[in-house]
Amino acid sequence: MCLTLPDTLITVMGIEKVIPSWRDLEVFLQLLPRSSTGERMNPYTSMWTGATPGDGPQRFHLVLLDNGRTAALADPAGRAALHCIRCSACLNVCPVYERTGGHAYGSVYPGPIGAVLSPQLTGVEDNASLPYASSLCGACYDVCPVRIDIPSILVHLRARHVEEAARARRVPSAEAVAMAAASWVMASPARYAAAQRSAGAGGLLRRRGKIRRLPPPLSAWTAARDAPAPPARTFRDWWRLEHGGRDARE
Ligand code: SF4
Repeated sequence: MCLTLPDTLITVMGIEKVIPSWRDLEVFLQLLPRSSTGERMNPYTSMWTGATPGDGPQRFHLVLLDNGRTAALADPAGRAALHCIRCSACLNVCPVYERTGGHAYGSVYPGPIGAVLSPQLTGVEDNASLPYASSLCGACYDVCPVRIDIPSILVHLRARHVEEAARARRVPSAEAVAMAAASWVMASPARYAAAQRSAGAGGLLRRRGKIRRLPPPLSAWTAARDAPAPPARTFRDWWRLEHGGRDARE
């Protein structure tokens, strides 16, 4: 009815929806309903080629919308998101979407594809939480009929968000300092082993297998949840014990 009743029909379409020929449409007409609801064909596809005197709309306008799509296309790591045919298969399998629902994404496109598309169309800063709204389980990648590697794009957008936030600040955030320190520790096996040994001291704060209160700034974490207590013995110690004193790397 939306298409046949109005005198003037205005259709707004993203530029990534253009396909070369009617023959290519055949592929998508099968791919979309089968990936979405398992139907062989959907009941809502309409085709029209312009105005016909005395039948349907008498004026027809097609608006091709860019709205950030050209910028997304310029990003080699993110442009695959433009392949999306909006079938919703990734939404149906996403454990995060299943629990939060569509409105939580705060954008037109919810679910895994929304988490990679919205930041690219309207800016990472405007959608800063979306690239993190995923456990990176990869279920969306498994079901996507056009094989969009959503988990990799999510990680790419997280990196973009961190870099853009760092550029916007004069002094590094506490998180950036903590990550730089972790990177320094993990770059050396000796430093990593020493850090593991010193983490054992955290066992002093243990109460029934958990740490319920940590000193500032880590108290921000324990204010809302418990922290797991470090094990009494590290994996390396266990390995050495089990393998007659040999190091796990030998
Ligand atoms: S990303 Fe893939 S699975 Fe998700 S809606 Fe788009 S085409 Fe479907």
